[in-house]
This record gives sequence, structure tokens and C-alpha cells, in this order.
Amino acid sequence: MIFNKYITVNEEGHLCIEGCDTTKLAKEYGTPLYVMSETTIRDNCRMFTKAFEGYSGGGMPLFASKSFICLEMCRIAAQEGLGLDVVSGGELFTAIKAGFPMDRVYFHGNNKTEQELKMALLNDVHCIVLDNIDELNMLSAIASAEGKKARVSFRIKPGVDAHTHEFIRTGQIDSKFGFALETGEAFEAVKTALSCDNIEIIGFHCHIGSQIFDTAPFELAAEKMLNFIHEVNSKFAIDVKVLNLGGGFAIKYTESDPDFIYDSFVKKILNKIERYCDENGMICPQVLIEPGRSITGAAGITLYTVGAVKNIPGIRNYVSIDGGMCDNPRYILYKADYTACVASKADKPKDFEATIAGRCCETGDLIQENTMIQQPNHGDILAVFSTGAYNFSMAMTYNRLPRPAVVMVNKGTSRVIVERQTYMQLIENDI
Ligand SMILES: *Cc1c(COP(=O)(O)O)cnc(C)c1O
Repeated sequence: MIFNKYITVNEEGHLCIEGCDTTKLAKEYGTPLYVMSETTIRDNCRMFTKAFEGYSGGGMPLFASKSFICLEMCRIAAQEGLGLDVVSGGELFTAIKAGFPMDRVYFHGNNKTEQELKMALLNDVHCIVLDNIDELNMLSAIASAEGKKARVSFRIKPGVDAHTHEFIRTGQIDSKFGFALETGEAFEAVKTALSCDNIEIIGFHCHIGSQIFDTAPFELAAEKMLNFIHEVNSKFAIDVKVLNLGGGFAIKYTESDPDFIYDSFVKKILNKIERYCDENGMICPQVLIEPGRSITGAAGITLYTVGAVKNIPGIRNYVSIDGGMCDNPRYILYKADYTACVASKADKPKDFEATIAGRCCETGDLIQENTMIQQPNHGDILAVFSTGAYNFSMAMTYNRLPRPAVVMVNKGTSRVIVERQTYMQLIENDI
């Protein structure tokens, strides 16, 4: 099927993922249920890694853990040789517990706490990506108190509009993330860092947004970043060699979204960098990218059980499911597109217009409005595609709905990688 090649329909007309019948998975593990295809995740990791072959500066993908993080995902990213982008003490803690090699961990975030900076430093993460001058000062003080040297890069706002949803567009100047280029803020920050004995500058970073379909904004950002690297290297007589271009590579959420081939996408950007460096007499930098959604997004589907089917004549059909905004807050957050199907009727035509509603006490608790699915009936399993990123990791427990389990499927086998939250766990910290 269109979302990933391991999603198929069997002879009974049931939706399958990596050869596992989704109606059986629902029966075995209960719903709502997140199901992730391990082979898709590993294929994506390898495709990104392979994209760097032949690029003279070398480089590697760092998995943006915020898209989907649990111990098993950290272990998979480690096995595939990826680095890891973490943005909080909690994400770092997960990586540590999973045994992720700290020399491949990059610590991000626009407002890291003192405690988090110390944790990152004491655990020897490879790089702390500085967001602002207060953070630089705080890190410098912590490093000197601990007698350590902190390796840093700077998050730069290259001023590129990535033509995506406003809420997830972050490359422009009006953004809470990073140092501005055009005001000289970034340049001043480098100067300050160079005056700190316990700070070592290893690179520059930008992240221009998410769900970007076009290489042009990346190429433009790369050019602006290379200009800046060239400028600081020559003005300060330093030799910074790492350019981190962030993540944001798009995935398919609907049939009309274009197909996306990540290795040729990345290669195109790398070619641009090579040409630029060639023309400007620069040595090609090591390039890092930070794919999150594009590694985990299309690998995942969510299974729900259909409850009430309500027809409001002349208005719409509400199809209520046993999950909703708690396990997938992306529709209520920014009206994200999704495609759904009735898992037991996946071979039937989609001739029913449904508004898929969750079970929270919020009118906006919807997964999709007026979308075409097969005729749904009470008790049917409903599958929503491309939910592998920013669903489990964004899940909440509003209305005291326990977080669903995550099941990993791999070539016909399935295993739980995150247990379903229990009612006892919901009250665990209540006193
Ligand atoms: C969110 C984020 C990513 C990952 O974005 P995707 O759209 O999931 O690829 C990478 N780097 C940074 C700094 C981010 O904030």
C-alpha cells in the first residue's frame, strides 16, 4: 500500500502490516494500539545512512528521538549506526538506559535547564547544541565548575521559510529557536564562546521546519550556513567542520501527498554543498541530518475499535473510536491530515464519509473530518496510517485514559515494546 511497502491486504480482505493481520493484533493486544513496522524503520535508517556514500565530507543521520522514543527505538537506532538527537533530560535518560553510545548523542532544546546541561555534560554527550547566549553562559559556568570541556554547536536561524504549517516553521527570524544570522547575533555568540576556555565549538546547526517536500529550502539553508561557516572560520582563524541541517523530511499522510525517496533527496542537498564548496574554495564539511518523522512516521499505524456510529442527517457521520486526541493530538493541534480504513474491509471500496471522533470531553477531539472509509460498524477495527511519529511521543492521559501499548511487528512476528499503561500507573504519583 501507499504508506509503506509492508502494509498489505490478505485474502480475507484484512489489513496486514509486515504479514501480521491487524484484526488479530487488535484482538491479541487490545485497542487503541500503536503498531510499528521494524523493517520499515530499519530500511529508513539504512536509506539515510547510504545517502552519504560518495560525499567527500562524510556525515551521518541523527535520529530525532522526539518523533518516537522508547528503549527499543534507541536500541534500533544504535544498532543501525545512527546518532541521536535528544531535547530533554527525559529523552537523554531513555538513551542512557538503552545503552545508546553517548559519543553519538546531540543535546538540543531552546530552554535547557541547568540540571539538564549538567546531566548532558557529566554523561559526555557528544555535543550540546546551544540555543541562546544565556545557555552559553550557564554551560560555561557548569563546565568550569565540573572541570570539563563542553563540545558545542550553535542553533542558527538561517531565515528560510520552509513552506510548511506555520506552527512547525522554525527557520524564520520570528522563532523561539536559535541565534539569528542577519542581526549578527550568531556571530557575536561565536565570539563569546571563543573567549570561554571550557567551550569547544564543533559545528553549526539549523532546522528549518517539518514535513518539507522540496529540497530548495534545504539547499538555500545550506548555502546560508556555509557562508556563515566560511565567515567565522576566516574571521576567527578557526576550523569548524560540521554542518547540521536538521530534519523535516516529509512523509505521506494521504494518497495525494507525493512519494518521497530520501536518499536521492539527501544526495541532491549534498551535491549542492559540494558544488558550493568547490566554487568557494572550501573543504566540504561533515554533514549531519536529523530525520525523525521520515524514519518512524510511515512505519506506524494505530488500531482502534469503532463504537458508536452516529448519522446527523444532512450534516455528517460521526464514527467514534476508543482513542482520539490523547493518543494522537496532531489533528487538534494543527489539523494534520490522516488516512484511515476499516481493517476487516480493507479490500472494499471507501464509500462512507466519516468524521472520526475520539472519546475525550472536547468537541475538537477528532482524528479526521469528512474522510472516506469503508462502511464502519460497531466493533470494527479502524486503522489510521502514518502515525509512527508524534503520536506515541505526544500521547497524554486526559480524562485518565491510559496510554496505549506499542507493538513492534517484524516479518510476521509481533512483540510488545511498550506496555499499555494501567489504571494503577495513572494514580502512581497521586498522594
Ligand atoms: C523536530 C526536530 C527534528 C525532526 O524533525 P522531523 O520533522 O521529525 O524530521 C530534527 N531536529 C530538530 C532540531 C528538531 O527540532
